Amino acid sequence: MPIPPPPSTFRCTDCGWRRTVIPRSDALILGVDWFEHCPQCGSQTLQWRPASATETFKARLQQLLGGRH
Ligand SMILES: [Zn+2]
Repeated sequence: MPIPPPPSTFRCTDCGWRRTVIPRSDALILGVDWFEHCPQCGSQTLQWRPASATETFKARLQQLLGGRH
C-alpha cells in the first residue's frame, strides 16, 4: 500500500501566501496537494517544508470544516 507523503507547508516569498496540505495518497493533485507556483500572485519562488504539528492540526481542521477535497 502506498504511503502518503507527510503534511507540508508551501509559502510564497513574494506575496506571503501560505498553504499547508495533507496529501490523501501518494498521487499528488496539482493545486490541491502540490503547488508549482503561487495561486495568488503566480510567483514560482515557493518555499516548501514539512508542516509543523500546529500547521498540520489547522489544515486538518480546515479540511473537516471545508470538506473541499
Ligand atoms: Zn504569491
